Amino acid sequence: MLPVIALVGRPNVGKSTLFNALTRSRDALVADMPGVTRDRHYGVCRTGEHPFVVVDTGGLSGVDEGLDALTAQQVRLAIEEAQVLVFVVDARDGLLPQDRSILGELRRSGKPIIAAVNKTDGLDIQDALAEFAVFGIAQTLPLSAAHNRGTEELIAAVLPLLPEDAHEELAPDDNDSIRVAIVGRPNAGKSTLINRLLGEDRLIVSDVAGTTRDPIRVPLERDGKRYTLIDTAGVRRKARVEEAVEKFSVIKTLQSMAAAQVVVVMIDARENLADQDLTLIGHVLDEGRALVIAVNKWDGMDAYQREQCQRALERRLGFVDWAKQVFISALHGSGLRELMRAIVRAHTAAMRELGTSDLTRTLERAYEGYQPPLVRGHAPKLRFAHPGGSNPPTIVIHGSRTKHIAPAYRRYLENFFRQRYKLEGTPVKIEFREGE
Ligand code: GDP
Ligand code: GDP
Repeated sequence: MLPVIALVGRPNVGKSTLFNALTRSRDALVADMPGVTRDRHYGVCRTGEHPFVVVDTGGLSGVDEGLDALTAQQVRLAIEEAQVLVFVVDARDGLLPQDRSILGELRRSGKPIIAAVNKTDGLDIQDALAEFAVFGIAQTLPLSAAHNRGTEELIAAVLPLLPEDAHEELAPDDNDSIRVAIVGRPNAGKSTLINRLLGEDRLIVSDVAGTTRDPIRVPLERDGKRYTLIDTAGVRRKARVEEAVEKFSVIKTLQSMAAAQVVVVMIDARENLADQDLTLIGHVLDEGRALVIAVNKWDGMDAYQREQCQRALERRLGFVDWAKQVFISALHGSGLRELMRAIVRAHTAAMRELGTSDLTRTLERAYEGYQPPLVRGHAPKLRFAHPGGSNPPTIVIHGSRTKHIAPAYRRYLENFFRQRYKLEGTPVKIEFREGE
């Protein structure tokens, strides 16, 4: 499962700037906790050798001085969730008493701490670091988050501190089943669906498994197909009081997406499509996973409401028009056969192995149909293509001036390949390589 690091420090030291630099993020996923002024933000850093979740804790103005108790609680939750703590301080402000009290809080957790001395741009780095040496933190690194300097070194320092098993591959017994994550906003109907699929007996088993902290995998067999449902937090939730505090676990959502092959994003048909839904879908794309959209609570909606809902989906989900939308009622169990079929189809497309010679021929046809716009009078050349892996199906294209190829042309190629190979339900990844 994806490991987690938390960025902690006073307000304004540059945590969100660092968060953006690490996650190169689309919109961050925000923990759903009512009454909190500054929420925790979550994203995935994928630039290092191994991906990990980054949590931006918002602000902590100083543990000893009557700070907003809810904000402090946010930070404590993040500290609890993380395996490594990145303590961000501000080289321009220098060491403030608040920094010391925050560090005290971090040390009480017993977790590894890296100090990131931010805003060192234009400063003498040795002087900047020297001021914070009194903390006695072995790894104290200079950073300029705003200029994206020092972030690679920070990532390199974080990776060895993460738990050894964090990057382990999935157990082999998972390999012949389809790994499915079911994600969605609170109350979309995830646990209702999972319970429906599993039936009552299994539920008891998963309650037991739910006593561990780790996301769990639940085997499911339906119509002769084997599945593994990943992280059925929704099933456990009812049995665990503390999980009621935070219904929507962003970390589990990101972890289950990363461990799955197919992600089902559940949307509540009775609610308007929310930004959070689009953000979730964006993360599925970032992760390269196959995608099925389950529009739930389709029962009891009249024709007008259904049409309104379908229009909204069409308008806002055009960027994933290749993903199957299935209209279901988790409560009554309708549409589930179609849902499972969509999962199987998306999985088949995602795992598809493409042949080398055929890919180049398809590329030639795509190129003949529509050529990339000229770059300073020269046309980018696309010479040949070969397969670069599955889940998502990846197509490596060799050519010249490929750096200048516009996103629109990349999308054209994606769609061309998708149509040619019937890659419905999965993102298609195009990678350009310069030269032969
Ligand atoms: P947060 O409250 O800790 O999340 O801090 P922000 O990321 O919002 O940054 C606070 C301010 O510091 C913003 O005005 C940033 O532009 C600025 N800032 C962040 N990183 C740097 C940096 O590396 N160098 C400089 N000079 N300014 C920075
Ligand atoms: P979760 O937070 O995503 O796990 O959502 P739950 O499964 O706990 O469902 C939230 C609420 O929506 C519960 O009251 C469910 O009974 C209700 N619900 C779930 N699925 C459906 C459905 O298909 N139709 C209707 N009408 N209600 C549903």
